[in-house]
Amino acid sequence: MIEKTLVLIKPDGVERKLIGEIISRFERANLKIIGLGIVKPTKRLLEKHYPKNRSWIENLGNNLIKTSEESKIKIDLKKDYKVNNVYELGLKIREWLIDFMCSGAVVKIAIEGPQAIQAVRKIVGKTIPLLAEPGTIRGDFSTDSPILANLEKRPVKNLVHASGNKEEARKELKLWFKRSELINPDL
Ligand code: ADP
Repeated sequence: MIEKTLVLIKPDGVERKLIGEIISRFERANLKIIGLGIVKPTKRLLEKHYPKNRSWIENLGNNLIKTSEESKIKIDLKKDYKVNNVYELGLKIREWLIDFMCSGAVVKIAIEGPQAIQAVRKIVGKTIPLLAEPGTIRGDFSTDSPILANLEKRPVKNLVHASGNKEEARKELKLWFKRSELINPDL
């Protein structure tokens, strides 16, 4: 039941001086910080962090189309984004995301606790800050929406990343932390 997970405070969270506030949200929930650092990540690291998983990439692309339709914004994939299909559109969003994540400092946090992966995602809130509940990190500190982000050709600024499941958590912790940087690496 005791899990480990990775949280990243993205460059917008660091820029806005929310590091202390964000870490305190996890500690308040009695989750344990077992690794912590501030880094300027390389593009190479981020390419590995956001792999070209087909279903995830297509999902990014489809979400952009869906939110544009809902907002009655007409988009022409070829003209507006210079892509031919949903997969290529998703790849474009992934590029925006990687470029943004390399644009400044990122705080890496390894967290441990009972069902920590789900607990952390709950505290972080939904991907789109405008839809994230008040009381969550994204809901309390941002109102960014994909409509604005997509018009400005940038990712949604939602302050934090948190691993989505056990496999992702294991892979991401290994990517961002050396064993010697973690308290209790084996549990
Ligand atoms: P999460 O970060 O909540 O796990 P995803 O894995 O779906 O969400 O997306 C990764 C990141 O990509 C998001 O945190 C957000 O910054 C960005 N993003 C997601 N969807 C879009 C979109 N339609 N337009 C722009 N950026 C997006």
